Amino acid sequence: MPREEHTGSYYAATRNDDTTYAPLAGEHEADVCIIGGGFTGVASALTLAERGHRVALVEQNRIGWGASGRNGGQLICGLAGRNHLAKHLGWEKVWQLHYRGNELIKERVQKYAIECDLKYGFIEVAHKKSQLAGLAQDIQYHRDAGQGEHFRLVERDETAEMLGTERYLGGMISMIDGHLHPLNLCLGEARAAKGLGAAIFEHSEVTRIAQGSKIRVETHSGAVLADKVLIAGNAYHHLEQQRLSGLVFPAGSFVVATEPLPDDFRKTVNAQDFAVCDLNHVPDYYRYSADGRLLFGGRCNYSGKEPKSIGRTMLPRMLAIYPELASVKIDYAWGGKIGIVVKRMPLLGRLSERVFYAMGYSGHGVAPTHIAAEIMANAMQGDTEVLAAYEKIKHRRIPGSQWFGNQIVAFGMLYYRALDMIPL
Ligand SMILES: Cc1cc2nc3c(=O)[nH]c(=O)nc-3n(C[C@H](O)[C@H](O)[C@H](O)COP(=O)(O)OP(=O)(O)OC[C@H]3O[C@@H](n4cnc5c(N)ncnc54)[C@H](O)[C@@H]3O)c2cc1C
Repeated sequence: MPREEHTGSYYAATRNDDTTYAPLAGEHEADVCIIGGGFTGVASALTLAERGHRVALVEQNRIGWGASGRNGGQLICGLAGRNHLAKHLGWEKVWQLHYRGNELIKERVQKYAIECDLKYGFIEVAHKKSQLAGLAQDIQYHRDAGQGEHFRLVERDETAEMLGTERYLGGMISMIDGHLHPLNLCLGEARAAKGLGAAIFEHSEVTRIAQGSKIRVETHSGAVLADKVLIAGNAYHHLEQQRLSGLVFPAGSFVVATEPLPDDFRKTVNAQDFAVCDLNHVPDYYRYSADGRLLFGGRCNYSGKEPKSIGRTMLPRMLAIYPELASVKIDYAWGGKIGIVVKRMPLLGRLSERVFYAMGYSGHGVAPTHIAAEIMANAMQGDTEVLAAYEKIKHRRIPGSQWFGNQIVAFGMLYYRALDMIPL
């Protein structure tokens, strides 16, 4: 596989850390070897390094090259699969975990002085009555858990006033959630892990994991000998296909960044600078960047392939909400792969006592990757309670997906898009 640099995103153009990490060469020893330098891998490396483990992190391209450095930057939605987890762990534990990702990110941004434009405020918006009813239920959940003060339902008129569009029936504001520059967060966490002794290797594709008295994680130019391994390649993952194929489907998601918008627009449309995401199965999500661009994202292709022009394909979705932006210039357009799991609950587990995996956040991964990282670090240290609850999820594997993966995603996406179009 050719070694790739960061994609041409707004984030890559505005990253504040140009550190490069040398490729793995020769043999290297570690307590834990992590494969994949996105949030799952980097946050796990940092957690384990904070706890005194010798960590080696091996990334085939650059740190944050995958979804973690390309996403919408929305720090939203906590943990998926609350009901399943509550059956095995109880609600108290589920609520401790639910916003743990947000807490970890907040702590790390402060502790390691990571400049990543972290801002609080999120509005989840409804297109249909059934979605509004879901929000009302969700706010009740939060109230029952003693979290009610951070959340507020907003009526149709107030939503229109806030967002400068009549498209939504209402929404829910969360002041626990928010948005950030994901690549700068990922690079900052990698820097922190490195500062605590983690060894980081870029441009080092892992080609094989061989189990012996030590586990040998091989690349073209070297190997890490480790006691434990975490596979954190998410939608870009291609190892251990016998056990893991067909469980996580790569689907394209795309973002455009406009030129910086005039103050007049930003003073009347989303003046509070919230992250916005709708409740459709195939959602639109948007927010302002720190320099006043609209970063507008969504899933616009159902073929599993990148469209010829991301900008042109995404534009109609943005203009359907803000037609007044018709003449605005698009400065950046890019896409990445999200890892979709049929049950929409992350795929956390073990291939053996010593080989772990964490992937499949189905589109919402900024916070959940951080929760997963802590769960995996705990499990590696012997506290497997939460991991074991995840392992009880009976994930669906689609047979033949190694040959028909994109077509299956395409079919699934069309199905969900059709559901979104039903007006109730
Ligand atoms: C366009 C887009 C918008 C999104 N928007 C949001 C959002 O606003 N909010 C949100 O919460 N989530 C969002 N997501 C989802 C979120 O970004 C992901 O869930 C999350 O970043 C997954 O992190 P990860 O570390 O598991 O995977 P990735 O960030 O994809 O990292 C996996 C890494 O593993 C590496 N790798 C794979 N195989 C190997 C190998 N054999 N050897 C070495 N390295 C390997 C890859 O190169 C890659 O860097 C979005 C995703 C996309 C693509």
